[in-house]
Amino acid sequence: MFPGERMIRQAIATNPPRFTPRVLLGAGLALLVLALPLLLPLFKVTVMTNIMIFAIVAIGLVLLTGVVGLTSFGHAAFMGVGAYTTAVLTTHYHLSPWLGLPAGLLVTGLIAWFLGVVTLRMSGHYLPLATIAWGMSLFYTFGNTPALGGFTGLTDIPPVTVLGTALTSPRQYAYLSLLCLVVVMLLTAFLLQSRVGRALRALRGGPVVAEAFGVNNFRMKVEVFMISAMYASLAGWLYAHSQRFVNPTPFSVHEGINYLFMAVVGGINYILGAVFGAALITQLREWLQDLLPKLLHAQGSFEIIVFGILVILTLQFARRGLWPLIERFLPQDRLRILPQQSAFPERAKPAPGTPLLSVRSALKQFGGLKAVNDVSFDLNAGEILGLIGPNGAGKSTMFNLITGVNPATSGQITFAGQEIGKAGAGAIHRLGLARTFQHVHLLPDLTLLENTMLGGYARAKAGMVQSMLHLERAEEAALQHEALRQLERVGLAAQAFELAGNLALGQQRILEVARALVADPTLLLLDEPAAGLRYGEKQELSALLKRLRDEGVTILIVEHDMDLVMNLVDRLVVMNYGQKLAEGTPAEIRQNGAVREAYLGVDMTEDGAA
Ligand code: ADP
Ligand code: MG
Repeated sequence: MFPGERMIRQAIATNPPRFTPRVLLGAGLALLVLALPLLLPLFKVTVMTNIMIFAIVAIGLVLLTGVVGLTSFGHAAFMGVGAYTTAVLTTHYHLSPWLGLPAGLLVTGLIAWFLGVVTLRMSGHYLPLATIAWGMSLFYTFGNTPALGGFTGLTDIPPVTVLGTALTSPRQYAYLSLLCLVVVMLLTAFLLQSRVGRALRALRGGPVVAEAFGVNNFRMKVEVFMISAMYASLAGWLYAHSQRFVNPTPFSVHEGINYLFMAVVGGINYILGAVFGAALITQLREWLQDLLPKLLHAQGSFEIIVFGILVILTLQFARRGLWPLIERFLPQDRLRILPQQSAFPERAKPAPGTPLLSVRSALKQFGGLKAVNDVSFDLNAGEILGLIGPNGAGKSTMFNLITGVNPATSGQITFAGQEIGKAGAGAIHRLGLARTFQHVHLLPDLTLLENTMLGGYARAKAGMVQSMLHLERAEEAALQHEALRQLERVGLAAQAFELAGNLALGQQRILEVARALVADPTLLLLDEPAAGLRYGEKQELSALLKRLRDEGVTILIVEHDMDLVMNLVDRLVVMNYGQKLAEGTPAEIRQNGAVREAYLGVDMTEDGAA
């Protein structure tokens, strides 16, 4: 039970009922897909199987490229690893294809882990270049290894056998492919809705954002890279036993680019977009390979040119791909509130007035510049401390030292009894520090509820595999209810199911506060929360922060807006040119001559600030 329960129930009640025409349409389409392998002519069934196999690779790219933002041109090579592993095991060693599959996944997983660890720290265009490099290396490894049959490849791969029946007919094989595709779609959908999925999406916000909630960015990237590679490996297994022979051609970087085309044209952020893209590109390729040479009276891969144009047009006119244009006619995936079984244990809070954060002689040097120069101050539990100063004073740098974004050059910072001067952002967060961002970092395509749930990342445990299997429901329920409680606390519960991207800036900042509160922090750090807000929004924010303080939340606020700060905080630390200029109550700071001078031209009298 939580205070906003009635409101939430209302919000759920206003969601559309379950059996809308859209749901029926979706069910009808699913039935059609199930019937297709029986209805289509044989050669079309083979095309359909290929589409489903390619879709599996493209879904891996949705995870890797669409969600996390890492572009890979080399995924066809992972498909090759899966295909060749099963080909070698079933032809040379006469093992069952059902052993070839896990073996392929294992080998691919290991290669992806190694490549990931080596390349995923690269940023910008270096990573895509690296994927081309290893994509080519693997391709030529396939082509130049005699045991793999060189560029002619391996033949006589046995069919997959299910319950004693060899799947030799394309119609039977289509159902195996469909099963694999559906499994991959479900695993991916579960993953994206989970704690890990929210963390994966947060990775797009840059290195600082996800880490602030305790996400291990690098490890997360390596894991998602491995998952997407293993999807491609599964596709390779299906492909090898469908074609019954393998050669290097389908596993080149060129094909890797094709999979990216599928995902981009279909919709790189959508699982169904990847399936749609795979269907569209594959079908189009069939048609164009037929049509274009006849039209142009010449032989050649003219369809590639058309694809190039198609991708450019998509990027120009439908940047999110074609799927979002179709999706609005289909049933929406509604977030369901799970029944709460347990709650997270609460953090022990220090008694009001006891020291919580202490900064001693903090120094941060950027080359010759001392951005923070010998600054000391204390923060006690239950108070609001303001850190102010003119532009360039070193406030943000100080903020970064405390939150672990940057390590201090020297000095001590103690939080909750622990020295944190050299600790990472995730470790400090786990000690009970939660923050908001100067530039709002939300997931605009997710609901307020899901955004808020990200704040509790460090309180939950479910990993990648558990999330994909949807075995984290008890934890998700606890996260949902905690998030709803905090949304209620900041006054946003009624919009819990709206998309964060639709909020005004003032509400987005308040949403970030709710997200931070889900971590059950002992200290809340706010980085210029009033920047860009209108007067009314500032008043609302200020009222919220005062209320939180009265409820026992300790707050450190870095702010530029004197008016807001002066009327909010208990104490102030003023910085100038990296040094501490003054410290005291707002009344004392107003009287301070040095501060007045630093803020030359700013009227700091009680009634002066307009
Ligand atoms: P404030 O937030 O008070 O406006 P900052 O902490 O952002 O000030 O900056 C303090 C000084 O440190 C500025 O002179 C700024 O140019 C410099 N600075 C901040 N971050 C870096 C950095 N990563 N590298 C070099 N100089 C920096
Ligand atoms: Mg700043």
